Amino acid sequence: MKPAALLLAPVPDFLTDPLSEVCQVHDYYHTEDKQELLNAVGPQIRAVIMYGASMASDKLLDRLPALEIISVYGVGYDGVPLDYCRRRGIHVTNTPDVLTDDVADIAMGLVLMTSRRLAVAERFVRAGQWLEGTFPLAHALRGKTAGIVGLGRIGKAIGERLSAHGMKVAYHGRTPQAVDYPYCESVTGLAEMADFLIVACPGGPGTRHLINAEVLAALGPEGTLINIARGSVVDEQALVEALETGAIRGAGLDVFEKEPEIPAALLGSDRVVLLPHVGSGTHETRRAMAMLCVANVAAHFANEPLLTPVS
Ligand code: NAP
Repeated sequence: MKPAALLLAPVPDFLTDPLSEVCQVHDYYHTEDKQELLNAVGPQIRAVIMYGASMASDKLLDRLPALEIISVYGVGYDGVPLDYCRRRGIHVTNTPDVLTDDVADIAMGLVLMTSRRLAVAERFVRAGQWLEGTFPLAHALRGKTAGIVGLGRIGKAIGERLSAHGMKVAYHGRTPQAVDYPYCESVTGLAEMADFLIVACPGGPGTRHLINAEVLAALGPEGTLINIARGSVVDEQALVEALETGAIRGAGLDVFEKEPEIPAALLGSDRVVLLPHVGSGTHETRRAMAMLCVANVAAHFANEPLLTPVS
């Protein structure tokens, strides 16, 4: 008999189809009576598939006493209670690397969109305003400094793209790395020297509101914040205030604190570019993520080494 797996997220068919070849799949996310489902199959569930940002509570996992592996469909795993999993000996895997280029492309896109005001320019054309006059000048990238918060896989790929656009790159993380970019010990120090502050670190309690009013003040009135990491890393209320008072020039955001809900002040502002969490949202990358997510589950039940375990 195939091992039982529980879906905690609305994953695509190109994940569930190959997963069904390995597991008996139960769709917790779309099931109306979740308690009934847990009563019926909870004790048999040996694998869980979930998004990294949505929370798998201890209370829910307590209902799955036979759980052996949580396979995250994504690279971030801030929604997984790692200490709890460690205590119970539950393996956790994610999908690193395969999404790096797409997410870095979106970060670069947001840098271009904010500096050249591309979304505003596009709305200008559609509204017929070009017939009345030319679009105001924007800002160049060459020679500007970008500060990357979290120089990991995605941060480094963003650095390559920024360098190709003639920008200087510096970074902040918990530890300095053997790279050519200058290291900044504090995120405020990095913000002070940056024209663009680009957030690419993990979410979770360790980075909650790392970008706060003080950091935004240090970024300054000619600075722009880009966030492709997690909404929780930025104090959104402080960001709204910084934009309204002109403490910073603009922001490009792919992620939000309470997504898909976005504060009205951001929705109504021409100083921000807003994307609906599409960092890894391409056919190619989502399929590669799905394959890796399933391959980890398959490897586990075949008693083979996990491909991408979370350490
Ligand atoms: P990664 O390779 O693990 O890189 C994370 C980097 O963040 C590391 O360099 C780490 O360096 C740094 N970091 C960790 N804690 C930090 C802290 N408290 N302050 C500053 N830096 C810190 O991960 P990745 O593959 O690049 O992914 C990064 C994140 O991007 C994911 O966790 C996810 O949340 C987000 N993401 C978003 C999308 C999207 O659709 N928008 C898609 C994929 C991923 P140190 O250990 O030296 O601190």
